[in-house]
Amino acid sequence: MAEKLVFNGENVGYGQRKFVHIDIAKLYDSTAMTLDFEVLRGAEDGPVLFVLGALHGDEINGVEIIRKLLALDNLKLLKGTLIAVPIVNAYGFNTKSRYLPDRRDLNRCFPGSSSGSLASRLAHVLQTEVIDKSTHGIDLHTGAINRTNLPQIRAVMNDENTFKMAKSFGASVALDEPLREGSLRHYCYENGITSILYEGGEALRFEKKAIAVGLNGVLRTMIALDMLPHDFQHEVGHDSEVLEGGYWVRAPKSGMLISEKRLGDRVDEGERLGFMTDSLNRETGEITAPHNGIIVGCTTTPLLNQGDAAYHIAKYS
Ligand SMILES: [Zn+2]
Repeated sequence: MAEKLVFNGENVGYGQRKFVHIDIAKLYDSTAMTLDFEVLRGAEDGPVLFVLGALHGDEINGVEIIRKLLALDNLKLLKGTLIAVPIVNAYGFNTKSRYLPDRRDLNRCFPGSSSGSLASRLAHVLQTEVIDKSTHGIDLHTGAINRTNLPQIRAVMNDENTFKMAKSFGASVALDEPLREGSLRHYCYENGITSILYEGGEALRFEKKAIAVGLNGVLRTMIALDMLPHDFQHEVGHDSEVLEGGYWVRAPKSGMLISEKRLGDRVDEGERLGFMTDSLNRETGEITAPHNGIIVGCTTTPLLNQGDAAYHIAKYS
């Protein structure tokens, strides 16, 4: 007998595609806040994959990745189930904010609770309606405001299935990043759901490159999981290069950063990345790479105070 797959009380049968609309909690002026997503169930059983966008409300490249994914022809070739949630944090999306109105970070609220804070309640609905029904997941993020990230995967590489998924996504790089308490990745790991996080571009922007790599990565992952046929339309590309995590190189003094490097550049220890200066060339100072690696994140504003993040350099593993 066919296994039921029920969302908000409604069954999605084999070969069906349905929109799901769940009321979360109204704002204090009575504006309704909802969780809207689409479920596509193939004719045959297979993995159940969630793809999430805008869990941080101002990180919108994932919203466009999912919109484009859902507009593709031939998704009826799907085996298994795709649960596509373009806007997880509708509150933050509306206010162009990373956070919820209670100033909590949703990605520190898992597992959620039906009687907890607003963020915790949203986490609970997402968990029970989407995450707990899935075997695999991709969470789409971007850098912060004024910071951009090279398209990259973040995942725990000591788990074999996660490692495979991170490589098959085919972002230029994949960083080994430990799990943080309260994060969605941590919740998935604890509950046997294989998940990876994609980072690409900057908050509040639609960036063509980050969107293209992200969309292709979702397709490559679905093909690797046998959810789509191997000849499904996509860029073949290369597996992600796995790197150790890195850390941010910070401005040694306040001023304007005159950068000489770009995202994706490979740098050697001690190599000059740029220099800091004031507007009259009185106070200058070099900024150099503390170790060999690849620039996977950088500031998009040249105006930095001492200690502001300038370049994120990931180490080779
Ligand atoms: Zn994020």
